[in-house]
Amino acid sequence: KHKRVVNFSAGPSKLPDSVLQRAQEEMLNFRETGSSVMELSHRGKTFKSVISEAEKLTRQLLNVPDNFRILFMQGGGCGQFAAVPLNLAGSPGATVDYIVTGRWSESAAKEAEKYCQVRKVHAPKPHASDSSDSEDSEEEWWSELSENAAYVYMCDNETVDGVEFKCPPRTPPGVPLVADMSSNMMSRPIDFSKYGLVFAGAQKNLGPAGVTVVIVREDLMDGRALPFCPSVLSYHVTSRNDSLYNTPPTFSIYVTGLVMQWVRDSGGVARMQELSREKSSLLYNLIENSQGFYYCPVDKSCRSRMNIVFRLSGGEALEKRFAEEAAKQGLTNLEGHRSIGGLRASLYNAVTIADTRTLASFMRDFAKRVA
Ligand code: PMP
Repeated sequence: KHKRVVNFSAGPSKLPDSVLQRAQEEMLNFRETGSSVMELSHRGKTFKSVISEAEKLTRQLLNVPDNFRILFMQGGGCGQFAAVPLNLAGSPGATVDYIVTGRWSESAAKEAEKYCQVRKVHAPKPHASDSSDSEDSEEEWWSELSENAAYVYMCDNETVDGVEFKCPPRTPPGVPLVADMSSNMMSRPIDFSKYGLVFAGAQKNLGPAGVTVVIVREDLMDGRALPFCPSVLSYHVTSRNDSLYNTPPTFSIYVTGLVMQWVRDSGGVARMQELSREKSSLLYNLIENSQGFYYCPVDKSCRSRMNIVFRLSGGEALEKRFAEEAAKQGLTNLEGHRSIGGLRASLYNAVTIADTRTLASFMRDFAKRVA
């Protein structure tokens, strides 16, 4: 019997044990078909019920209005970096606004530059500073968004930088807001009146890698796509074919459906939000109260509930030792993103309060031993 670690990876990340067990139980004989779900035709009755159940649960859990379509696509978050301009720009070279808050919104803007005139709008600095001279009122930078943009793009939670929006920015009238929610979808309710489109690669909060959930307002699928938009990335084509234009990642969609059932049975999205607040506060408070042993480089106003980015004032060698010793105790993947170093604990839905407390006591213990 294998002992499971406590996995704090930013993605692919921990899945609930009960979901993995259920997938295991159903592996060889799915719903009396005598086949694994992986061996079923994506056009057969059984798989069609799997995908429509996953869709219904997503709609139910996130309270998705009737005028939004839920699509299961491929290509991951990065696929959407291309799909968004290809489907929504209206005409090649159109002006689009990108709110840049970290690595992923920066990458999305770069991809969009292949198709559009990209204006980057920098939100008030997400980096912590002691000086309280920052007068950046939210109103001020929101007013930089232009009225003639085909859409405004944002990344709701920056997985690498540990930066999260508290609420969506207000966009100029008629300009749809597009949000990358790859690392925080299903961790709090979404007010769909504020968005035209939201998307998420599944491999953090929703399920295994391979499927990307796109929730798009119906009217945005009319007449905005660029003529060379590939069919597999087309929202219109995907929607018209009920996400079965070509062979979808059937196993990933099935497991994502199991995760949705688990969210529902665990109290739904509101409960996930409560838990995420509790888990993240636990770590942020510990960091704040560590007399500078640990510190968080992110401004308090925009700290992520999902990805807790932190550093050791003792330096990089000590950070390395921290991650190694934690791993020896079964607390894995606490290294920061390879591009910025430091440390990061990702607290997605499947990471429990108990898991978080285990990490907290390791952190307290480590500080005591080393300081
Ligand atoms: N957006 C965000 C917020 C992410 O965290 C990631 C992956 N870490 C991506 C996009 C890219 O996703 P993928 O690897 O599925 O293309």
